[in-house]
Amino acid sequence: MSTKPRVPVLEGWFTLEEKPHLIGTKCAKCGTYYFPRQSLFCKNPACDSEQFEEVKLSRTGKVWSFTNACYQPPEPYIAAEPFVPFTIAAVELAQEKMIVLGQVVEGVNVSDLKAGMEMELVLAPLSEDDSAVKLTWKWQPVVTTARGAQ
Ligand SMILES: [Zn+2]
Repeated sequence: MSTKPRVPVLEGWFTLEEKPHLIGTKCAKCGTYYFPRQSLFCKNPACDSEQFEEVKLSRTGKVWSFTNACYQPPEPYIAAEPFVPFTIAAVELAQEKMIVLGQVVEGVNVSDLKAGMEMELVLAPLSEDDSAVKLTWKWQPVVTTARGAQ
C-alpha cells in the first residue's frame, strides 16, 4: 500500500470519510437534487430558484442499469490510463431517487450485476503520480452480513 497522500481526483465531488458520500446540491425551493452540483439556476422548468444547499447524497442505492465500457468514457467519468474496459453502473440513490453513474469496483463484471441490486459508494484509487494517489468513487455491491440466513 502506498504511503502517498490520498486526494480526490475531482475536488469537492465527494467526501473522504471511511463511508464516503457524493456531494450534490439541493434546490432550496423545489427540493430537486443535483449531482454534479448545480448552483446557478434550477433546471426544473417550473422553478426559478437560484438558491442551493450543499448536501451529502445517499451512499447506497439500487442498480438501474449497467454496461461494459469498452471505450474511453467522456468526462467527468475519468478512466485509468492506459484504458482497460470496466463496468459502469447507473445507480438510483436510495433517498434522492436520482441516477448516478459510476465505475463498478474491480473484479465485478456485468455478469455479477442485476437490476435492483443494492450498491454502496466506495472510494478507490484511480491513478497515482509522484505526489499522491488519486481517488474516485466507485459502486460496490453491498455484501449482506446475513449471508446464508435467508
Ligand atoms: Zn428548484
